[in-house]
Amino acid sequence: MTTLAPYACHPESTRGRRVAEAPPEGRSDFQRDRDRIIHCSAFRRLEYKTQVFLNHEGDLFRTRLTHSIEVAQIARTLARNLGLQEDLTEAIALAHDLGHTPFGHAGQDELNACLHELAPEAGGFEHNLQSLRVVDELEERYAAFDGLNLCFETREGILKHCSRRHARTLGEVGARFLQGTQPSLEAQITNLADEIAYNNHDVDDGLRSGLITLEQLQQVEIFAEHHDQVRRRCPGVEPKRLVSEVIRGMINTLVLDLTHTAQARIAQLQPRSVDDVRAGPPMAAFSPALQVQADALKQFLLHNLYRHPQVMRMMGKARRVVRELFQAFLEDPRLLEAEYRRDDPVAQARAIADYIAGMTDRYAVREHRALFHME
Ligand code: MG
Repeated sequence: MTTLAPYACHPESTRGRRVAEAPPEGRSDFQRDRDRIIHCSAFRRLEYKTQVFLNHEGDLFRTRLTHSIEVAQIARTLARNLGLQEDLTEAIALAHDLGHTPFGHAGQDELNACLHELAPEAGGFEHNLQSLRVVDELEERYAAFDGLNLCFETREGILKHCSRRHARTLGEVGARFLQGTQPSLEAQITNLADEIAYNNHDVDDGLRSGLITLEQLQQVEIFAEHHDQVRRRCPGVEPKRLVSEVIRGMINTLVLDLTHTAQARIAQLQPRSVDDVRAGPPMAAFSPALQVQADALKQFLLHNLYRHPQVMRMMGKARRVVRELFQAFLEDPRLLEAEYRRDDPVAQARAIADYIAGMTDRYAVREHRALFHME
């Protein structure tokens, strides 16, 4: 039986929902948020959105959905270790990528570039902000309100980053980006759980794809250390199991280091409430030594996997699909279904961005083909 720490987010003292609702029966407000996220259509679309490898490149690669589930698993472990609210961390983790475009970061960067160039008044595209837009406005499931009407604490965790320009328009959930304060510890650990998840699963997917090799990864200290340990512990282990053992070792090391570092900071700063957490310095972090190792792994993946010519080619094609869709719809909104048409040009550009951001990889490819090919 774990007890909730005084500095955790307690569901009974939530700062509430944008539209007041009767409290749920038989579950807490944060459980209700988690449940609403799992039942929404943006969540199901994560299954067909790219993490690094396009959806059709192989059945074993991570998608945004499996990524989000891995983030939730790691975040819940951290939450339990630190006496934090597990249901809230799970809700934040499962929702954190709901605003991601098709084709991963390439799709998002291209959509942002299109908005800046062709509709500068619309204010660009930020994927964290889009995740918040999905849960605040875009989901159409409830009779009484737009979006999912989630609790402040869940929305706070979903909005990981935000420009000052947008923060000013968001009311209390944007305030911390203007004041320079922190979010809850549940939000802080989920953010780091995201990093732990993608750094590790991208090593796994990268090796499986053959775009990076075990030999190359020997230059990365955290990988090399765990690799040597596994080799000593299990001599002659076959390569597939070796990789799994190294990755589980790395995840475990990162989770334990983060747990111990956060426990030490909490002991030092003595937060007595979530408001103390928000007013203090960041309390969830890796130790300095492990942060250096984690950064080195991230740099390795950037240079050797995310910028691998084969990935770049695929992403180049993805960018063209996103750009051509955006241009075509903006030039002639009559190509859009009525629900995406607007009278005001800025609202029209935003509606097109929402439409494209909501597409799965394969839906975007199909729309592109439908617009540009006579068949
Ligand atoms: Mg993520």
